[in-house]
Amino acid sequence: MIERRMPAGSQGIGMTSKGTRARLVDRLRDKGIKDERVLTVMLNTPRHEFVDEALSSRAYEDTALPIGQSQTISQPWIVARMTEALLAGGTPGKVLEVGTGSGYQAAVLAQLVKDVFTVERIKELLRPARQLFHKLRLHNIHAKHADGHIGWPSQAPFDAIIITAAGRMIPPDLVAQLAPGGRLIMPLEEKGEQRLIMLQRTEEGEEVQDLGGVVFVPMLGGLA
Ligand code: SAH
Repeated sequence: MIERRMPAGSQGIGMTSKGTRARLVDRLRDKGIKDERVLTVMLNTPRHEFVDEALSSRAYEDTALPIGQSQTISQPWIVARMTEALLAGGTPGKVLEVGTGSGYQAAVLAQLVKDVFTVERIKELLRPARQLFHKLRLHNIHAKHADGHIGWPSQAPFDAIIITAAGRMIPPDLVAQLAPGGRLIMPLEEKGEQRLIMLQRTEEGEEVQDLGGVVFVPMLGGLA
């Protein structure tokens, strides 16, 4: 009997096609994501490029996946939920992201807003993320090796800030870098439970809203 082999690398093609991505987007819609702009961008963004090749067949499951350095690429539903919440008050121009990680969240945002500034404390994650931004021609993403607690003061104020790691408090320096009317979205850890919160800077001060329970890797202090 003649042994027939698939050419190297071809096994993944069906699992990373636009059809597979369309099924993920249908699931996100079923799970309550309504903003069609966000869904369209996620339909067009190759999430499999942001994970190791060995995991690419799982890239369109609605789950977080390891990206090395004990970190994860966020679950697609969470990316959609946070992006949708960020856009709900009008499209922000300048957005700061804390926790570049794989770069996927930044890539989604970059297709919806004018400029994305993203900071990551682990240098080893920043390099491949930057290469991907270049490859995908996302030239409006600016990435820096920095501690997210400090933000990016020279680029402030930001219309929106998104923190993609769970913190025990809302970083005051980041609230200070928010433009009037701007919104900050982050997972906040309280009593061992993580809640997605949205802080809005208003004329009277700040308003905080609870958007529900979530699971994130922790926000750590200092550079790795
Ligand atoms: N947005 C990412 C999610 C990555 S997980 C994605 O789409 O893939 C969270 C990331 O936050 C990790 O890479 C972690 O290293 C980073 N992080 C944690 N604390 C940080 C801090 N204080 N400053 C900057 N990055 C931080």
